[in-house]
Amino acid sequence: MKHSSETTRHRTRHRTRPRIRRPRRGSVFAATAVLTVTVAAAPVAVPGPPPAAPAPPVRAPALPANPAYGALAPCALIPGEGLQMTEGLPTGPGYAPSAGTVKALTLMIDFPDIKGRGTARKRYAEFFPQTSRWFKRSSYGRLKYRSTAPIKHWLRMPHSFRSYGIKRGSPFEPGYRRLVADIAKVAGPKVDFSRYDLVNVLVTPNAGPPAARAVLSVTYSGNQRAPVADGVPLANVSFVYSRQDDGSGTLSKTGYRVLPHENGHVFGLPDLYTRRGGESAGHWDIMSEDWGAGNDLLAWHKWKLGWLGAGQVDCVARPGITRRALRPLGRAGGTKLIFVPVSKYAGYAVEARTNEGNDEAVCKPGVLVSWVDTQVDSGRGPITVVDSTPGSGGCTDERNVHPGLSDAAFTPGETFTGGALGTGVRVRVTERDSRGDYRVEITRYASGGGRG
Ligand SMILES: [Zn+2]
Repeated sequence: MKHSSETTRHRTRHRTRPRIRRPRRGSVFAATAVLTVTVAAAPVAVPGPPPAAPAPPVRAPALPANPAYGALAPCALIPGEGLQMTEGLPTGPGYAPSAGTVKALTLMIDFPDIKGRGTARKRYAEFFPQTSRWFKRSSYGRLKYRSTAPIKHWLRMPHSFRSYGIKRGSPFEPGYRRLVADIAKVAGPKVDFSRYDLVNVLVTPNAGPPAARAVLSVTYSGNQRAPVADGVPLANVSFVYSRQDDGSGTLSKTGYRVLPHENGHVFGLPDLYTRRGGESAGHWDIMSEDWGAGNDLLAWHKWKLGWLGAGQVDCVARPGITRRALRPLGRAGGTKLIFVPVSKYAGYAVEARTNEGNDEAVCKPGVLVSWVDTQVDSGRGPITVVDSTPGSGGCTDERNVHPGLSDAAFTPGETFTGGALGTGVRVRVTERDSRGDYRVEITRYASGGGRG
């Protein structure tokens, strides 16, 4: 990641590497990933927090108590400090609102040296209305995403693509700052930027390398030093380059998914993929993998975005046994998230995932357990999905779906046992009931200081 030229006040999101799994042409991946990959020992895939979890103290630490969350306060993990982006609640100021009607301005741009390929309208149609539908479905109607493209043709930038110096991992300064300023200048006569919550810039797909070689798409969110247009800083801007084409012929159906990912940053969500790809959260969240078959967001992200009602989240902050039914995320209503906090910053999330709604790639439906740590930065694995079958090759043959975690969910009869920071956690999946909900029994207990 190249953040050296920026202050930490710039919440800058980069997708610095392609997260594409190309079993038939793996050399493409290897050739581009080699610059950033650090070889590390594979973590042992056992149920429980990842090795990155904080060292256990002697006593169970205090739980958070943000009064705005009422009875859920112990589960509203506070944001980690000094991070670019955090899983903590609530999302800080400067990001776009993620519930209610959200107005997106979408512009299609090209350059004097890279003229638009195809029409701008067609470029727009690669992403809309699919992106709006994805958000509607994922948010259970709580996010009404309204995209407007007031300029129907390619918006020609005054300078060459080359002159902006855009590469994978480019920081906001100076190239993107100039590009955003130029966009504001050129679109200015026809656009009132103050009427929008976020901006999408769909770059002509022939600018820059194919996405399979290097993903340039990027979002700069919450950047208060961004150029100002119509009195507002253009702080929440998602740029989309190229096409996420894996050669499987599904581009027209799945290629839009880079935009919900980038907009996720505008709404304050960190990246869940790491330098090692989707090994932390697999295909269970679009912030982890956004190529290929459809996926949803983890329940924690839905809560963070304001898409779950208070009655849809259960907080298990005290020792004892809790029995609940979890409604799969792909359906509306019901309990969506049970959270077991072990500190102010970390805990276990429990949710049900099936092959429904935006979740198209689920091959082993069941109850997913994941470890959330708000002190882990974006791109370093702030959420780690627990694998119920460590060491298995998974159950998917879909391209671009992390195979090892594809069968991570726990099915009826299976039990997760883990714990951290003096708290033990057991999640037993008892049955899938006649409504299709998963019944779980969660036991929270003092585990004597160590990690279970
Ligand atoms: Zn990202």
